[in-house]
Amino acid sequence: MGGADQPDRAAWLQGPAAHCNPQPGKTENPWRLILLGPPGVGKGTQAEMLHLRLHACHLSTGDVFRAAGARKECDLSPAMKAALEYMRRGDLVPDSIVWEMVLERSGCLRCGGGFLLDGFPRTIHQAESLKRLMENQNIPLHAVVNYELPQGDIVQRLSGRRTCKECKAVYHVTERPPKIADACDRCGGALFQREDDRPESVKVRLEAYEEKTAPLTEFYRGMRVLLPVSATGTPEEICERTVAALEARKAKTPATGVPHS
Ligand code: AMP
Repeated sequence: MGGADQPDRAAWLQGPAAHCNPQPGKTENPWRLILLGPPGVGKGTQAEMLHLRLHACHLSTGDVFRAAGARKECDLSPAMKAALEYMRRGDLVPDSIVWEMVLERSGCLRCGGGFLLDGFPRTIHQAESLKRLMENQNIPLHAVVNYELPQGDIVQRLSGRRTCKECKAVYHVTERPPKIADACDRCGGALFQREDDRPESVKVRLEAYEEKTAPLTEFYRGMRVLLPVSATGTPEEICERTVAALEARKAKTPATGVPHS
């Protein structure tokens, strides 16, 4: 994490060679959370808002792939080039590529500031690998927030989503419009529609979610860490609901936090 309000996600986005500066004083009782839910439910927006409330870093695997996609073709490894092809189609990137990418950045999971995992894990295989890694390194998992939303609302949210090219802030053409059309409120960067938010990719992403990611709710329910949260209403309402659910959970669990298994 970096400056007062802005996360420093260089280490996560660029890999182990980049340097991260955890914010002093923000490392007491860090939150270590997974955000789960279908694409378009608002996990990225919630991760940004929760970062400001809980100070844990927002770690998105999709952001790493998009950051790689913005680099020159010749700078990409063959595995990363293949990953970007899957992503463009709306398909899940193979587990082996995702896991290698996460392993390279596992320092972010050990960071004293905690983390908010957004978009990972997405398959049972990824969830099992993460569970093993966290157990081996004694990293507790406090909760898996499962955002729930009816399918019709999901499609509407995905098709209206716009992202800032520069700082990756997320907007929605009707629900969360920028103050000036097509420009980011935060940094003035141009807003664009993600390639995989177009209708043909959205269909593939929703099918991939149902088949591969939805079963994770049972996996985490079995571990007694699943925290269902309704994703209806404004981003601010959803964030309040999430923080309240997390606080209620914390009040019921020992001060040392909830173990991963
Ligand atoms: P997201 O921004 O989380 O919606 O991710 C965008 C795209 O990146 C997904 O549709 C996948 O193609 C790829 N991706 C991101 N995270 C993962 C993951 N954990 N497993 C497989 N593919 C992923």
